[in-house]
Amino acid sequence: MTNPHHHHSLERCRALIAQLNDYLDGDLPADLCADLEAHLAGCPDCRVMLDTLGQIVQIVHALDVAPPPLPADLEARLLASLTLPCAPAQGEWI
Ligand SMILES: [Zn+2]
Repeated sequence: MTNPHHHHSLERCRALIAQLNDYLDGDLPADLCADLEAHLAGCPDCRVMLDTLGQIVQIVHALDVAPPPLPADLEARLLASLTLPCAPAQGEWI
């Protein structure tokens, strides 16, 4: 269960990104908000994500229509755009 590639906690980012919609809508419980903001303070990647999602939400609200679901691949594409300095290199076993 030990992950040797641990210094960039992508799972943590994933969990928070999944909550960003609720956060932007003001639906996130206060304790989770504090959690999320604490992570954002130390994670520039997630701040970019929040900015991007925030712009989408603003556009949707400005249009005053029922918000369409975000494209299913949006999260995956945003995650793919993150640079991962610790991406496991092949032949790194020794
Ligand atoms: Zn993050």
